This record gives sequence, structure tokens and C-alpha cells, in this order.
Amino acid sequence: MRVVLAQPRGFCAGVVRAIDTVEQALVKYGPPVYVRHEIVHNKFVVESLKAKGAVFVEELSEVPAGAVTIFSAHGVARAVEDDAAGRRLAVINATCPLVTKVHNQGKRYAGQGRALILIGHAGHPEVEGTQGQIPAPVHLVQTVEDVARLEIPIETPVAYVTQTTLSVDDTRAIIAALEARFTDIRGPDTKDICYATQNRQVAVRELSKVVDVILVVGAKNSSNSNRLKEIGAESGIPSYLIANGRELEPRWVQGVHTVGITAGASAPEVLVEDVIDALRQLGPVEVTTLPGREETIEFRLPPELATA
Ligand code: SF4
Repeated sequence: MRVVLAQPRGFCAGVVRAIDTVEQALVKYGPPVYVRHEIVHNKFVVESLKAKGAVFVEELSEVPAGAVTIFSAHGVARAVEDDAAGRRLAVINATCPLVTKVHNQGKRYAGQGRALILIGHAGHPEVEGTQGQIPAPVHLVQTVEDVARLEIPIETPVAYVTQTTLSVDDTRAIIAALEARFTDIRGPDTKDICYATQNRQVAVRELSKVVDVILVVGAKNSSNSNRLKEIGAESGIPSYLIANGRELEPRWVQGVHTVGITAGASAPEVLVEDVIDALRQLGPVEVTTLPGREETIEFRLPPELATA
């Protein structure tokens, strides 16, 4: 069996920074440090950090007064920041700088008096954070149909921002519908869309041209991993999202010549290797990597840990 790995795949710079933030906070302050929400959407990562002394909570009320508290890569609403300040928690903010950039862009548009539209998935923590960061109503749009349902007069100056785990291609149709509906509309430059989301999606499209089956390594609640699976399926290739090698169903690869593997932005490479090992249990495997875009982006740690 041939195994072809997508390039790039797995960890993005925002995820590396978020995980390093928790690890360095544990070194600097000692355990426990509290983390609001899964630092990134991956159980393996969360369990590894728990073993080192991180405590994951969903609500700040679960954090003892004064404790070191880390906000996840997805970002948080202003109300959460205010709540933390009110409780004198020692906050370290691991929000990805590209998510912060979306917050700032949204604030600028709202400050210009534009009605703000957010293209994203309801209930995702990043969407809740972005909605809660902008001191004005934010209209969430998930589909082209939602655009027609917006209760904003067509001559109103509007602007849109997007959830970072949507790519240029994901948002193209919705943006076209918005531009068709509103006469005065602004949006970010496409180069402001997260490089990692875009690159992983381009890579899985390339992968789909040369393989018979695609395995996406990632968590079920990882938005970008689900999207990689959908893109594989849209390309006509059976595609499966699995957390690790144990979730591999032998029937998916029975009689298959070439298996493609990619990984969501929050999935560590060790899990890709785990899936390859699971394939090896079924027979000899030859592994190659597709040529793809090389990523060199790195983000500095939050200022509290800058010297770490
Ligand atoms: S996917 Fe993009 S926005 Fe999200 S954490 Fe990674 S680099 Fe940041």
C-alpha cells in the first residue's frame, strides 16, 4: 500500500504558540495553571497538558481567585476578559494573533459605523469570541441563504469578517451574495484570511488527485479538520476523520492502492504516525510526501512569557 502525506498538514503557528504558552506557563508558575476551554481542539494535546498540570475549565467561575488562567487559541468575548479582571485572575491570552486581527478588523469596521456581518459557524468558540469582542451587533451568516434573511436595509454601509477556519474558497459564494445584496460593502483583503487554513485546504485538494482514500487526522470538534474531510469528499474521494490509529476501520482501505493522509491544524504529527502504524498492521506500507507549500510563520509567545 502506498501512503501519501499532504504538505502542509497538522499544527499551524497559532496552535504551536497556544500549546507552548501552556507549557511555558507551567514551567514559569508551576502547576496548576487553568485553561479556559480546550487550548486547541485535540483530545491528545489536552490530555498531554493535563498530565503536566494544566486544568481545563469551561467557565471562569471554576478557577480559584488569583490563579494563572490561559485563554485558548480561539479567543474570548470582552465579557470573559472583564470577568477575569474582576476576579483578579492572572490572565495569559493565547488567542491566535490571526484571530485577534479579525477582532481588530471588526472593531474598526464597527467604529466606521458599518453594520457588521460575521461569516462563521454558530456555537464555535471563535465565533462567540469575535461576536463578544465587537461593541456593536454582529450578524452571523453561515450560508448563502442566510444572506437573503439578513434584516439590514440594502443601502446600509456594511462590512464582513470571517471565522479563521474558513478559507477563501469556503467564503467565496457567501461574499458574492453579500456583494450582490449590499451597495456599500467592505471586507478584509483575502491575504488576511488565515494562511494555515488556506494552505491545508489547497494541499488536501492536491492529495485528492492522487489517492483512492483520504484519512484526515483530527478531532471531531475541530472545525478545520471537518472541513478537510468535506473537501476530500467533495473531490469524489471517500474521506474519513479519525482521531488516531485505533479509529482506522480496515474496510476503508481494503483493496486500496494509495491512501492519502492529512491532519487538521490542531492535530500533532505523532497522531499521523500512529495512523501510519495502524496501516502497517494491515500490510507493507511505502510512505511519500506530496510537494507543497513550506510554512515558515511563527508567532511570539504572549508578553508574560516572552522571555521563556
Ligand atoms: S488555524 Fe489559523 S487562525 Fe486558527 S490558530 Fe491556526 S494560524 Fe491561528
